[in-house]
Amino acid sequence: MLLELKHIYKNYLQDKIVIPVLKDVNISIDEGEYVAIMGPSGSGKTTLMNIIGCLDRPTKGEFLLEGESIVNYNENRLSDLRLNTLGFVFQSFNLLPKQTALDNVALPLSYAGVPVKKRKEIAFQALKRVGLAERVHFRPSQLSGGQQQRVAIARALVNNPKIILADEPVAALDPVTAKQVMSDFKKINQEMNITILINIHHVELALAYADRIIGIRAGKIVYDGPSENVTQ
Ligand code: ADP
Ligand code: MG
Repeated sequence: MLLELKHIYKNYLQDKIVIPVLKDVNISIDEGEYVAIMGPSGSGKTTLMNIIGCLDRPTKGEFLLEGESIVNYNENRLSDLRLNTLGFVFQSFNLLPKQTALDNVALPLSYAGVPVKKRKEIAFQALKRVGLAERVHFRPSQLSGGQQQRVAIARALVNNPKIILADEPVAALDPVTAKQVMSDFKKINQEMNITILINIHHVELALAYADRIIGIRAGKIVYDGPSENVTQ
């Protein structure tokens, strides 16, 4: 199993009041799955993804990545995991505005200590994979929203992650572009065998592209199964 969450709870403390956000979440995800996490706003999707992405820690529960418990990892080890095992894609792209597509995509490789020439080569290949070989020298403002999100996907790919975590990656895109981005994830999933985990609230898109749906309501998993079994 690639990742396992067992009895995960997450509470936030606000003005000394405990706010339970995740309540006994149990999820196992295998290598190569394409999973959509669906649920209304405020149901805990981002909180859950931040825990899986090692950006936040659970209040209680067990989290295994490739069979190894990581809840007691220190910041350094978590940061290694984020760099080498996980790739992140966000709703707002988070690209550096003054850098070209190529430089944005190459950036994580500089943290990993890859030499400049090699960085550009890998970044170019990643951009090519998402159909942007002709746009490598464009800056974000010179690209459409869909193209910017593809640059962000290419950036998430360069360190050869096992898992890509995408929090509402199509929420800011028009329907046609959103479809293309969902299909890019599918391609990456199938061709590179990278596990895809996305938060999304667009039902038709989730059902059309993801293989498995996890439904969350008020911090609890209310559905977990193949997308073809979901009746709308
Ligand atoms: P979703 O992504 O499904 O919209 P979130 O995970 O962002 O939901 O939030 C779930 C709940 O947790 C919300 O009620 C939100 O207000 C609360 N929450 C999220 N982050 C914090 C925080 N840092 N402190 C306090 N409450 C938070
Ligand atoms: Mg969210």
